[in-house]
Amino acid sequence: MAKVKSKWVCQNCGYETVSYLGRCPECLQFGTFVEEIVSSVEKVVSSKPSNNVGGEIKISKIKEIELDEKVRFNTNIDELDRVLGGGFVQGSLVLLAGDPGIGKSTLVLQTTKNICETKINDKKLKVLYVCAEESPLQVKLRAKRLDIEPENLYLTNQTCIDEVINQIEVIKPDFLVVDSIQSVFCAGIASSSGSVSQIRECTNVLMRIAKQKNITTVIIGHVTKEGNIAGPKVLEHMVDCVINFEGDKYKQYRILRCIKNRFGTISEVGVFKMEDCGLVEVNSPVNLLIEQSEGASGSAIAVTLEGSRVFLHEIQALVGSTNYSNPRRVAVGLEYNRLLQVIAVLEKKVGLNLSKQDVYVNVAGGLDVVEPSYDLALSLAIISSIRDIPISPSTVFIGEVGLLGEIRYVENIERRLKEAKKLGFKKAIIPFINEKVYKNLSSIDLQIKQVKKITDAIVEGLSND
Ligand SMILES: [Zn+2]
Repeated sequence: MAKVKSKWVCQNCGYETVSYLGRCPECLQFGTFVEEIVSSVEKVVSSKPSNNVGGEIKISKIKEIELDEKVRFNTNIDELDRVLGGGFVQGSLVLLAGDPGIGKSTLVLQTTKNICETKINDKKLKVLYVCAEESPLQVKLRAKRLDIEPENLYLTNQTCIDEVINQIEVIKPDFLVVDSIQSVFCAGIASSSGSVSQIRECTNVLMRIAKQKNITTVIIGHVTKEGNIAGPKVLEHMVDCVINFEGDKYKQYRILRCIKNRFGTISEVGVFKMEDCGLVEVNSPVNLLIEQSEGASGSAIAVTLEGSRVFLHEIQALVGSTNYSNPRRVAVGLEYNRLLQVIAVLEKKVGLNLSKQDVYVNVAGGLDVVEPSYDLALSLAIISSIRDIPISPSTVFIGEVGLLGEIRYVENIERRLKEAKKLGFKKAIIPFINEKVYKNLSSIDLQIKQVKKITDAIVEGLSND
């Protein structure tokens, strides 16, 4: 009988040791080590050459490598195609990550419908959907609700990856969906599904199959409470493309964000709205994110840019005296450390005393803001709440706040202002810019106020002219 050996694996980054460690020396996280059994079978599995993902090994001169080897196909969902950099690359491995319940399976199911209609070389594409988490019946029910019943979509509830490979041999799909990578397992690995070793080995197997048989593969991965992709970071390194599906599952809007792409740029985002009939593309999201109630203090509009899309966010703040010895700072939808920094700048440069005040801020609409040009709106929302002076709802704020209280220039100011104008805003507070740039802006019919310092921005922002 084989001797049972075990190892301890960090569930965050995949670091392995022979004994338990409280803190991972690789990723510095606490309490992430889990014991995994190493059976003797694993040795046999892992002794196979695993890096030969492209099949035959050959040496070529760089000049002689053909560039247009990759075939792309569209999903006919513009928001998804753009994020992928022009559709799926044939034979690529894509990880779709997101919170449980956010709508990943719905998005993929809607995608498969279009893919089944796509033809390459006059042949309709075949899709195999591995429903490891739900039964095919549940998937069928969802598909019926979404009105998706294509001819060449195959479902299997096989969770053993080796059996999935056998089914691939039979069905010969062009497109494979694994829902989700946390619930499939490889028989050669003794640890339970969802563990680092399982996720790593299963992804390895899928990678090999995708490259050898030229099958475009989408694996769905859940995100942990901390916002990391459950399982090891190595998963992100292994796949060709990582797209995150973000948003608040209790709200309508979802953002698709590419965080890694071997075949394109990662700057683009896609916007969807969850409705009864499934996910609907939102081609002009800009005006839909604002829930501003007129005349209330503590609210300011920021104009941010994600890829080629302009977003208008309403930033809300509530400042009130505290009952605690340490005042509370709560940020929802934006980075906590940025809030602390903005508060520090307001205290030092504007002379506010917030040491006895709780500060709560959030972004209306349930979407996260990432780009730092929302700083100015955040500062003004806080000031507006403290002084109880409402900001005119037709004013937008653009600019990053520096540690010296200066307002930093942000890119593409012209595009942001044009979108704001389109939505009926009348006044914009922006960073100071040179005359050459300003000349281009003068054609936009907006009252533009340039500010150099946070104190100037407060005067301009709170005035009602
Ligand atoms: Zn680690």
